[in-house]
Amino acid sequence: MGFSEYYDVVVVGAGHAGCEAALAAARLKLNTIIFTVSINSIALMPCNPNIGGTSKGHLVREIDALGGEMGKNIDKTFIQSKMLNRSKGPAVHSLRAQADKADYSREMRQTLENQDNLTIKQAEVCELIVEDDTVKGVKIFTGGVYYAKAVILCTGTYLKARCLCGEAITYTGPNGLMAANHLSDSLEKAGIELVRFKTGTPARIDSRSIDYSRMTPQYGDDPVIPFSFSTDPASVQKEQVLCYLTYTNENTHKIILENLDRSPLYSGVIEGTGPRYCPSLEDKIVRFKDKERHQLFIEPEGIHTNEMYVSGASSSLPEDVQIRMYHSIPGLENCKIVRNAYAIEYDCINPAQLYPTLEFKKIKNLFAGGQFNGSSGYEEAAAQGLIAGINASMSVLGKEKIIIDRSEGYIGVLIDDLVTKENHEPYRMMTSRSEYRLLLRQDNADQRLMKKGHDIGLVSDEQYEHLLDKVKKIEKEIKRLKNTFVGNDEKINDLLLSLNSTPLNSGASLFELISRPEIDYRSLSEIDTDRKSLPDEVIEQVDIYIKYNGYIERQEKQVEAFKKLEMRKIPFDIDYDDIKSLRLEARQKLKNFRPISIGQASRISGVSPADISVLLVYLKNS
Ligand SMILES: Cc1cc2nc3c(=O)[nH]c(=O)nc-3n(C[C@H](O)[C@H](O)[C@H](O)COP(=O)(O)OP(=O)(O)OC[C@H]3O[C@@H](n4cnc5c(N)ncnc54)[C@H](O)[C@@H]3O)c2cc1C
Repeated sequence: MGFSEYYDVVVVGAGHAGCEAALAAARLKLNTIIFTVSINSIALMPCNPNIGGTSKGHLVREIDALGGEMGKNIDKTFIQSKMLNRSKGPAVHSLRAQADKADYSREMRQTLENQDNLTIKQAEVCELIVEDDTVKGVKIFTGGVYYAKAVILCTGTYLKARCLCGEAITYTGPNGLMAANHLSDSLEKAGIELVRFKTGTPARIDSRSIDYSRMTPQYGDDPVIPFSFSTDPASVQKEQVLCYLTYTNENTHKIILENLDRSPLYSGVIEGTGPRYCPSLEDKIVRFKDKERHQLFIEPEGIHTNEMYVSGASSSLPEDVQIRMYHSIPGLENCKIVRNAYAIEYDCINPAQLYPTLEFKKIKNLFAGGQFNGSSGYEEAAAQGLIAGINASMSVLGKEKIIIDRSEGYIGVLIDDLVTKENHEPYRMMTSRSEYRLLLRQDNADQRLMKKGHDIGLVSDEQYEHLLDKVKKIEKEIKRLKNTFVGNDEKINDLLLSLNSTPLNSGASLFELISRPEIDYRSLSEIDTDRKSLPDEVIEQVDIYIKYNGYIERQEKQVEAFKKLEMRKIPFDIDYDDIKSLRLEARQKLKNFRPISIGQASRISGVSPADISVLLVYLKNS
């Protein structure tokens, strides 16, 4: 008979989701234990060596604003940093940082190891303990039982995982780590529906075998902008590594097309569904036949290793084909493959089984986060892990759980899409998924979410005070610019002409001048003699507000209408069979999803506006 222990919160998985979940619960002073099949894989990055990127950078900023760890961790371990899409509007500006993978994992492990109220255990969780539709704990491979008031499943790509490289199949997790082969059966016995998904990764190449003279170096930014709102910008200014750009060519495409029958993806050996927006090289060449070449970025895995990651070339083709495929690429003609590219299949859930709080509808106090919920990506995983960790803690503390809605953050878009839409492939975040992009910028994540993080208890008073002071400075400066007028004198007009801007015929406010596309706050410093020196973060907000406030106000109006429907709650025990005038398809979908609000109901595919009107009338009369 194994022994047993009691905790407030059990977290299964120490990947990007599990780490955020466990830190949140422990920081809210709950006795927490986190399990992983290998302590050496804490916050492992089994795929791309970077954090952030388009829309993913937004998620990292939002995690930071809510009191999560990912932003701080990458600020300590990045080796190159770049603000993407600078030439476009602020809605799609996105920070992306190359990480030293080993440092990233080591730093997160240290944070977990030094966190009060947190215990780390290397052990495979094999069974979920459920009584009366409520989770009671877990059992590990030794038979040991860990009772808990809440359990969070963040098992990533490990459940019944298998890795495929051509005909070669290994029943392991990523990087040859042990797969978790027992928990899936216990979850299905508890009535949880599982699906099979897949994803893939490219080969790792020995840097000494690469001819960089045939590639285009990619430089980091100077100055570097940190991810975390609590990171001192001065602390991240350091020497950065280079990445390199190269391309596939006709020969690469020919090698792949000639061997498609040996690809487990095309021979049907792979059963799991892969991410459309993160396709393997085989997929890209088959789907975009007209494209003569595909971009590939050669990225360092870290500064203490020669391993280079070939971004854009994930594959599951056999080893001999991979060698010819990579050797056909300029600069890789003589490359030595350190790790073969491979695909991985694993069990995860259909997230329609979850509330937007990430709690299972059918099992009380059981929560889930990360790739296990059908998403793909470190950032998507960390965002869900944080919300699951907060809400498991709220349920243990008897406090109200939080829901970030689609107008408040990409985290809201991510979770709402997962639990409300039918996802038949790993879900990856993109800015196009948000209808309020201009409001959900990465630069204002603190103004959107930090109050929530502070109210929950994960953001310090000091940091929240800093935000309130920043907002006060922004508002005060905007007001001053609105009330500071300049005339059409020679000095002003000379400056405007030098900025390729139309000279003034009569007076104008500085606010009006800055709203011109060719002018920004800094370019008026010589004529704005009353201005005080302000922090960069304030100036950035002043510029964005002045330039986009028309669009921002319009989107804020749309959000008001959205919020009204989100506020119209639907009782969980509503009997949809009792609503005779509902169409059959809508009734089935509503019974399956059990949306919590009219707003969520209106986003379920197969539920029409007419069905929503019927539902509104029914709720009004009941
Ligand atoms: C080969 C490969 C390729 C990928 N390609 C991409 C890509 O191209 N683009 C992209 O965005 N993302 C990709 N990813 C996904 C990315 O790695 C994940 O999104 C991210 O790591 C998910 O984080 P997570 O916390 O949900 O799970 P993971 O990082 O997978 O962590 C899961 C954790 O759970 C633990 N665990 C699991 N089951 C048990 C159990 N029963 N008992 C105890 N511990 C358990 C593991 O030890 C681990 O600590 C890829 C992943 C892999 C493996």
